[in-house]
Amino acid sequence: MKIFQSSTCLSFVALLLAACGPQSEPQAESVAVAGPAEAPMTQFADVVVRDAKVYTLDAQQPWAEAVALRDGLIVLVGTNVEAQDLTGPDTTVISQPGGLVLPGFQDAHLHPLSSGVDQFDCNLDIQPQEQQAYLDAISACATRMPDRAWISGGGWSVTAFPPDGIPNKALLDAIVPDRPMLFSSIDGHTAWTNSKAMEIAGITAGTPDPVNGRIDRDPVSGEPVGSFQESAMALIRAHVPPPPQSQIDDGMRYTINYLHSLGITSMQEAAASIDPESPLHALETYRRFADSGELQMNTVISLLWDNDKGLEQIHNLVRAREQYNGGLLNTNTVKIFMDGVVEPSTAAMLEDYSDQPGYKGELQVKPEVLNEAVAQLDELGFQVHIHVIGDGAVRAALDAFEFARGRNGVTNGRHHLAHVEFVDPADISRFAELNVTATFSPLWAIEDAYLTELTLPRVGPERYRWTYPINSIAQAKGRIAFGSDWNVSSPDPLLAIETAVTRVEPLQGKTPVFMPQERITLEEALAAATINAAYVNHLDDRSGSIEVGKRGDVVILDTNLFEIEPAGISDAKVVATLFGGEVVYARQP
Ligand SMILES: [Zn+2]
Repeated sequence: MKIFQSSTCLSFVALLLAACGPQSEPQAESVAVAGPAEAPMTQFADVVVRDAKVYTLDAQQPWAEAVALRDGLIVLVGTNVEAQDLTGPDTTVISQPGGLVLPGFQDAHLHPLSSGVDQFDCNLDIQPQEQQAYLDAISACATRMPDRAWISGGGWSVTAFPPDGIPNKALLDAIVPDRPMLFSSIDGHTAWTNSKAMEIAGITAGTPDPVNGRIDRDPVSGEPVGSFQESAMALIRAHVPPPPQSQIDDGMRYTINYLHSLGITSMQEAAASIDPESPLHALETYRRFADSGELQMNTVISLLWDNDKGLEQIHNLVRAREQYNGGLLNTNTVKIFMDGVVEPSTAAMLEDYSDQPGYKGELQVKPEVLNEAVAQLDELGFQVHIHVIGDGAVRAALDAFEFARGRNGVTNGRHHLAHVEFVDPADISRFAELNVTATFSPLWAIEDAYLTELTLPRVGPERYRWTYPINSIAQAKGRIAFGSDWNVSSPDPLLAIETAVTRVEPLQGKTPVFMPQERITLEEALAAATINAAYVNHLDDRSGSIEVGKRGDVVILDTNLFEIEPAGISDAKVVATLFGGEVVYARQP
């Protein structure tokens, strides 16, 4: 890295000026002689990180001892001695013996804005995940929020409502009968309401199920029970007043700080409505935070495809891209929901549900519409990001990418499939063939009650083998990226990395290893959380690895993950997070 050393630069200028002789002034003086037209001679770094192991994710130079950053960019990846040469009186030095320096983490699928705003609602993402705990928390919210017309929030787990994950309005009516309530499940696919909310929304036994949605009903009386699946959630949600601007802003700030504390510097918002009347005004909110300088996060925005509309919506997506692209915002992705989730049988499978002969779930978009949509979006330069859970949804999505390739040839769309819970073995190799990244949420790949009690009985043992087949796709040369789906699950990348390596629940460590053949290596998991996610985010030219010339997006851990047992990975602590060379998070000692 000699070219960045001040001495080389000085001698070059000195020769030009012929001012460098035995009698000449010290070199620092000749800088002054050069005048303001010349580049400054002593280019000390703004920040030096040293005395740690640096794992760069750059195949040309995988390891180093030190990194130096100047003007927001990485200017040195080298040794402590080289870094010393760039250390001046104003350089911030971060020395972390025994630590590990990595590129800033990237999350390829999460819900940053809504998850932040939810923190200021009635939060049911609590332990234990049991009915009584939820009811206690809701009672406390009702007392704490006496002025709110609606009590709303989310985070409850379907595992608390055996056998089918469907909660009942009577539980809520018993604690708050007079104010309407709506609570989303932690996976966002089911809403639980009380009778008051249904009365306001005009839901009765005679209300038909909407397209792509289901009102859960008592099998005998046909009366709605207070649980709404998929698009049926909107029947109630349309009546909930939007959060005030102050709550939206508080939520966005919460998210940025929280993600920085986890070492995250780039993210892909998984679903932003382009409807200007949408409650969170997502596009405007991101734009405002980007313009004010508060965002401090490379942000890819997935514009939400409206399944109630057809191809005619494409021109609105193009308009939204024109209006909201630029700076830290990359608004060049379209997100399509192909199905729901397995447990309430809204996932689209290739074969019947094991406990429901004759029913295999439904695709939310017809294959011929999806093919045409993907081909047109691909041709327009959009990335297409598709929610797929069932193996039927995975198949339909891959077919659509194949169709688009047939029409457009190979493009730079870098399309990806999010979640990928079940994959038919015949489709494993198609991820690599079609250059479609599989974006997994590794925290779901553990053998917990959710999988054993709610999922396994629905799919049977044969398909269960192909649950989150991360290693199978990697072995077939498919690209793996991580997307936490926060706040469905924790956005902590260290939890995801540990779980991908162990397939064991990372906090208690008590679950059996889930499908051990689907574990991946630490190197593969780190790539999924950095350079591969950067590829998906179209950010790999400027981030995702530690290389000279890339942005100074770096995370410093207190522990070298390569020197510990995998079960300890998530115990490592983020010491500092740098975004564009600036320290945006530093751990309090
Ligand atoms: Zn999601």
